[in-house]
Amino acid sequence: MEEIMRNDHVFHRDLLKQYPIITHGKGPYLYSEDGRRFLDACSGAVAANLGHGIKEIAEAMAEQAGKAAFVHTLRFETPVLYELSEKIAKLAPDPLKKVYFTSGGSEANESAIKLARQYHKDAGKPEKHVVIGRWQSYHGNTFGSLSAGGDIKRRQVYTPNLLDFKHIHSPNCLRCPFQREKKDCDKTQNWSCTASLEQLILEIGPQNVSAFITEPITGSQLGSVVPPESYFQEIRRICDRYDVLLIADEVMTGFGRTGKNFAIEHFSIIPDIITFGKGVSAGYAPLAGMIVHERIMDGLMQNSKGKFVHGYTYSGHPVSVAAGLAVLQIYEREKILENVRDAGKYLFDKLIDLKTRIPFIYDVRGMGLLLGIEFSADKAGTPFEPSLQLSERINEKAMELGAVFYPGNGTINGQMGDHLIVSPPLNCKKDELDELVQILENSMLLAIEEIRR
Ligand code: PLP
Repeated sequence: MEEIMRNDHVFHRDLLKQYPIITHGKGPYLYSEDGRRFLDACSGAVAANLGHGIKEIAEAMAEQAGKAAFVHTLRFETPVLYELSEKIAKLAPDPLKKVYFTSGGSEANESAIKLARQYHKDAGKPEKHVVIGRWQSYHGNTFGSLSAGGDIKRRQVYTPNLLDFKHIHSPNCLRCPFQREKKDCDKTQNWSCTASLEQLILEIGPQNVSAFITEPITGSQLGSVVPPESYFQEIRRICDRYDVLLIADEVMTGFGRTGKNFAIEHFSIIPDIITFGKGVSAGYAPLAGMIVHERIMDGLMQNSKGKFVHGYTYSGHPVSVAAGLAVLQIYEREKILENVRDAGKYLFDKLIDLKTRIPFIYDVRGMGLLLGIEFSADKAGTPFEPSLQLSERINEKAMELGAVFYPGNGTINGQMGDHLIVSPPLNCKKDELDELVQILENSMLLAIEEIRR
């Protein structure tokens, strides 16, 4: 193989690090130029949902690129655009039937925030402009999506530029931000985490609030925390009461990651807008978007002559859309939801088994193949000192041993706490999961030994 020369022209996110150079991938494995193999135990950024090197997807993209690589969706449409929109509309809950494409999840959430604003304005409610999001939640890195999100570290640098959006706490029964016990909430059916939404809407004034945006399962910030069962039903009631649109950010959870097409289905409610990304093209091409409720579309038709005041050059890019179409065909043909449920249960049980043996695992949670492990320094759940960077350290050890995970460090009642997302490709096999767990266990033990040395 031709020798690969590093150079200094790549603007890495961390300029001090040297990253492995990946030459190719196959199934759940990535291979680097120096002969190493990495088990992709987090599907990249929870995106490479079918693993790597699938020729069928590459060929579908090449075929479309050979026909028409780019058309401007302001003027033209393509057959693949129709096919993929129809497929997504069929998978989405009724009556969310119109699909709008973007290149990434941040753009998808920007689009949803703007659509909510336009919907209310056109309906004669011009004051409705404030979006409510949640602390410990992530919606993207553009200014609108960053303003809606609650990642304190990412927000800090840009605070003077952020929009004046408001936030409530994410539900997290293990470490309740309201210091309540789950059993008490269950008994009284009185949830502080939902009541705080109503309280905030009333404080801001319902006439000013356009939308509430939420991840169905809190991904990167908390490490796959699942809300209590009735959480979303109460959230839906509150949004309806004050004419606030409910945006479900399914950028990480959409297209089967949690064992259903969309994670919000686990909670039996219908949002007004679903945003998606990552899994729709399994990372083979930049593709994301939103699926919109018919009442919003009706409003747009009636009040704005069908015109959404927004758009991107690469909305509905034919090559990305062709990738998405090939990916959804594979999900269907390979009965991917069934594999996620089976493999998810297998992996979950294995992680629970690890928890019985490794005392610094505080919690194992999640749904399907979006699983999270949280660490603590003692049985009472005290987080590790943030400067120890435990989850990063575990991932570094894993990379030395041949696997990569998704480390995170979110806020727990004001303190930073370590977690790891475990989210292998949705078509993973049991022997690959056995290897994953073995490497994970060894990496955790090595990291903790290093810290305690
Ligand atoms: N929303 C959620 C829930 C995400 O997890 C992410 C990315 O990790 C985004 C939005 C942003 O997507 P992108 O990085 O494609 O802009």
